[in-house]
Amino acid sequence: MGAFAEAMAPGVGALPAAEAEVPVSESFVRHAATFDPRTLRRIRLAIRAFDWLPFPWRFSRSSLDARERFLFDLERSRLGPKRDLLLLMKVLTGTHYGGDPRVQAAVGAEERCGGERPPDPPPLGDLTPPSDGEECDVAIVGSGAGGAVAAAVLAEAGLDVIVLEAGGYMNRDTYPEDPVEAIIALYRDGGLTIADGRPAIPIPVGRAVGGTTVINSGTALRAPEHVLERWRTEHGIEWAGDLEAEFARAEKELRVRRLDPASMGRNGQLVMEGAKAIGANGYPLPRNAGRCVQCSSCPKGCRLDAKRAVHLNYLPRAAQAGARVRAGVDVRRVILDRSRAVGVECVADGNGDGRRRYEVRADAVIAAGGAFGTPELLLRSGIGGKALGRNLHVHPAAWIGARFDEPVRGWDGVMQSYAVDEWADRGLLLEATFTPLAFGAQWLPGTGREHQERMLAYDRIASVGVHLSDRSAGRVGIGSDGSLRLAYKLRREEAATIGFGIARAAEILFAAGAREVYPQLSGVPVIERGGLAAFEASSPRPADLRLEAFHPMGTAAMGADESRTVTAPDGAVRGVEGLYVADAGLLPTSLGVNPMMTVIACASRVATRLAERLSG
Ligand SMILES: Cc1cc2nc3c(=O)[nH]c(=O)nc-3n(C[C@H](O)[C@H](O)[C@H](O)COP(=O)(O)OP(=O)(O)OC[C@H]3O[C@@H](n4cnc5c(N)ncnc54)[C@H](O)[C@@H]3O)c2cc1C
Ligand code: SF4
Repeated sequence: MGAFAEAMAPGVGALPAAEAEVPVSESFVRHAATFDPRTLRRIRLAIRAFDWLPFPWRFSRSSLDARERFLFDLERSRLGPKRDLLLLMKVLTGTHYGGDPRVQAAVGAEERCGGERPPDPPPLGDLTPPSDGEECDVAIVGSGAGGAVAAAVLAEAGLDVIVLEAGGYMNRDTYPEDPVEAIIALYRDGGLTIADGRPAIPIPVGRAVGGTTVINSGTALRAPEHVLERWRTEHGIEWAGDLEAEFARAEKELRVRRLDPASMGRNGQLVMEGAKAIGANGYPLPRNAGRCVQCSSCPKGCRLDAKRAVHLNYLPRAAQAGARVRAGVDVRRVILDRSRAVGVECVADGNGDGRRRYEVRADAVIAAGGAFGTPELLLRSGIGGKALGRNLHVHPAAWIGARFDEPVRGWDGVMQSYAVDEWADRGLLLEATFTPLAFGAQWLPGTGREHQERMLAYDRIASVGVHLSDRSAGRVGIGSDGSLRLAYKLRREEAATIGFGIARAAEILFAAGAREVYPQLSGVPVIERGGLAAFEASSPRPADLRLEAFHPMGTAAMGADESRTVTAPDGAVRGVEGLYVADAGLLPTSLGVNPMMTVIACASRVATRLAERLSG
């Protein structure tokens, strides 16, 4: 890893040299200690395979000069798997180098997270689980968008609720500044949850009190009406067309406001200007971050609490109504009494005395561990029919960067700011999303000095996410060693649609003045001005695309058709009494917009019905 980092970042201009000045491999080793054993094994294998790529020589034994030349040739290789390995190495080292304060300083990146802070939220109470187990009316697994809302609804209805969260509690005073520390503290598996497939797709999810809402970008869109209508007519979810009150309540609770174009930052403004120039429809995004000071640090937790993640509202509301929130509790299994859920078995962080067993007995259990955590828990518990874990939709997304001559300074802007929905009929949503250097450097094309030149220009890089509302699907499973398995198969025609979306993003960025665009297409590192027609002449195959995704959903889908769904329209898991789902797993189809608000609305509906049932 050190040999790769040295060749990738030899130190150009003000940029420090990796290893000699920035200890990339040392930081990586610390990060790797948080990977689950399977991920670690696979990454070790990949690093070994990379080392032998120049066979009969070994990369790590070659001179720096030879390594730099090898990387240069590798990026231009005709063999996709070799380029995939290179990308993986860039991803594995990028955060450790790009997140270093000396690198940030060389690029001129600043985080200005100063400003007025809202008063402290009401406390969540004692987060430590007692040693001898507990009892309650409803045990909720997971404290993210779905779990937090369900907890507030049920506790305020007078039910005794315990929320169990595998992650720890962090807040504006304790979020790590260092991006690597933040990934370790706030993301599942150190941020390396990756779906197998061609291409493999990284799909990070949060793991903290507040779930993924702690590290998300704060975009707060309602589900499109046509999607809800489809859920109602094709999936038998009668209430789907009637979520107005849920959305309105959530918007009030999360203080959702539409961004002012004047203050969204240059990244969003360039996308807005480019879209207008080509006549494409778009709008500034609504966000749950009214007091945002535009520092683009959302993926590390908002140090101002400008972003109203659910540990600031729904969870304190639940706690005020008597709910107990327990952190550092990994729920391992749902306890069944014949076909009835009667509690959960957990492993909890001890007080310095290692991990210990801890059990919660309950009249009902809500699985709200997210689209990965919920099927994982149910599968581990031996629950669920054929449909469980299938139907994984993710909104596959391509990060399209562009270099401008003018300063963009994306870190002076809101992370996700402007949407272009002109091609929504094809399932495409383009969102201006500036990625901080620590998370974005790896997507810049080039290796060695060429890559470093582009890094030095990061203050002139703008970026757009091209998201697809996918019909392609994947699967969540567990391996024989109990570890999470993710797979996703992108259909060929959907790869072509993403290719179309990339071309539209490039068109917008060129119209706004970009000098070059980075399309994340294997073998096409850069589109120059005037090169768009040639780019569009052929459409990409799935394996050609370099994708990531942030919106897993659908793995415990609700609906009327028993053969295709895991849960009934009220969120009840089929075949088990007293077990419900209230998270992104419920969504029966891909949504087409960022899902947080829809997850909240659906979880609220499931919890309201359950409260009526349990109280009545
Ligand atoms: C980087 C990023 C940016 C995003 N930006 C946006 C955005 O701007 N707008 C938007 O709408 N959406 C965004 N999303 C997606 C959005 O945040 C999620 O769709 C939403 O939070 C999902 O809610 P959930 O309740 O299903 O799961 P989560 O919010 O992920 O919560 C699940 C929680 O359950 C816990 N858990 C899982 N299994 C267990 C277990 N066995 N025991 C105990 N606890 C468990 C997890 O640790 C986690 O904290 C983003 C996602 C990412 C990764
Ligand atoms: S950009 Fe994100 S982290 Fe920074 S203040 Fe705004 S909401 Fe908070």
